Amino acid sequence: MLFFITANIIACAQKQNGVINVQEVQRIESVLASDDMRGRRAGTPDIDKAAMFIGDEFKKAGLQPLKPNNFLQDFVMIRSKVANVKAEIDKTEISPKDIIVNTFEKEVKIDEKSGYDIQYIKAGQTFREKVQELASTKKNMIVFVDTSFSRNFPRLAGFNAQTFGSELAEHKTVVYILGDYQPKEFKIKAENSLQETKYANVVGMIPGKSKKNEYVIFSGHYDHLGIARQPVNGDSIYNGANDDAAGTTAVIMLANYFKKLNNNERTLVFAAFTAEEVGGFGSQYFSKQFDAAQVMAMFNIEMIGTESKWGKNSAYITGFEKTNMGEILQNNLKGSAFTFYPDPYPDQNLFYRSDNATLARLGVPAHTISTSKMDSEPNYHKVTDEMSTLDMDNMAKIIEAIAASANSIISGKNTPTRVKPEKVM
Ligand SMILES: [Zn+2]
Repeated sequence: MLFFITANIIACAQKQNGVINVQEVQRIESVLASDDMRGRRAGTPDIDKAAMFIGDEFKKAGLQPLKPNNFLQDFVMIRSKVANVKAEIDKTEISPKDIIVNTFEKEVKIDEKSGYDIQYIKAGQTFREKVQELASTKKNMIVFVDTSFSRNFPRLAGFNAQTFGSELAEHKTVVYILGDYQPKEFKIKAENSLQETKYANVVGMIPGKSKKNEYVIFSGHYDHLGIARQPVNGDSIYNGANDDAAGTTAVIMLANYFKKLNNNERTLVFAAFTAEEVGGFGSQYFSKQFDAAQVMAMFNIEMIGTESKWGKNSAYITGFEKTNMGEILQNNLKGSAFTFYPDPYPDQNLFYRSDNATLARLGVPAHTISTSKMDSEPNYHKVTDEMSTLDMDNMAKIIEAIAASANSIISGKNTPTRVKPEKVM
């Protein structure tokens, strides 16, 4: 077995450094998917165990933490729960169901002298667009919504109900009132309870030899659904062996592999994300720590534990047509046993349903690699997503394929084209 590698035999070295092997894949996967981890639900103490384990693996692999001695990238989310909303317009009380208050203030008390902007969403305007536009102005305001939008109106309650603790100060109070009013005077009152939840991504890196400020990211989410309310056949733990202990296992394996290879010109970042299943906050927070222009590629890995619809040694890439990254990966796999295909389930919008989406929206060639048969995977989001349903051997091979496919990107030889803003939703 080779233990040293020179640049001109990298292609052969892919299989020969032996770092990616079934035994290791099995060891890591079995810890992450074990009942001990209690379903790794983000925001609960249960997931901390998984975070510690991943951090230890990153340390053992020889990755560099972002903060001294700390692989955890922790952050806080604040959830607001507004209650007891009351409003009176020109001395007439408004029904509480026609008022929605979006705020992170503890208490809201407004009248016509409070200096709030008055805005309208008028009949015929595009509701979603107008809401986004008003929210982006970051001003305290009262928005009167035309009754033609009465069906869309209740959705505004969920809008901006959570924020990153670090962005709390930027938030303004927006009051939506259903109905056409030209008020002379008004009084609006609401109470709010703020709930704080702690989360942590696990992140490590291998600095690049020559292109230190050009990042290539390998990621997967390590959170899952926790404990089921009703046991199914005596089982209540969502092990999430495939979703996404499998992707997290791949990230740990790739970290070991590239550290041993030790020839990356670009800086490699390895990230295990939290809170994918509850809104994607982990990858959103992570993305904010980068200048998107410096991120050359993101390999997000989701559910690679089962055979793809084409059988063994194959996987698919979401959003294939959005950049030429997929073609680069395909080229790097030419002559090997592996094939990467474009996502065969375009109707499912998988490109937007995983942790690649945040960076992709910022232009980064950020794709998810998966083998999951999204039209027929029997254990998807069920308590039966257990390690025994996975094919460890195929999974190890897929991880090898991902490593091989990334070759020319980590060396700086290939730079994928960017995602065009008009091509994302
Ligand atoms: Zn997932």
